[in-house]
Amino acid sequence: MKIRIEKSGCVGNARCNAVAGDLYPLDDVGYIAVEGFDVAPGDEEAARKGARACPERIIFEEE
Ligand code: SF4
Repeated sequence: MKIRIEKSGCVGNARCNAVAGDLYPLDDVGYIAVEGFDVAPGDEEAARKGARACPERIIFEEE
């Protein structure tokens, strides 16, 4: 499983980070710092929760 993030659409409300801070790091001004990542075994549920927490719907789960 992979996560893809349409970083340019981030509004910096940090919901993803609040749910799964280790997976969704923020930059110095509070916007998502990564464009995606490979989800390690065991992190799938946290990755999904972070994705669902984004009100902008810019975090996508991919195979
Ligand atoms: S929840 Fe979405 S909009 Fe908010 S910081 Fe995370 S990626 Fe950006």
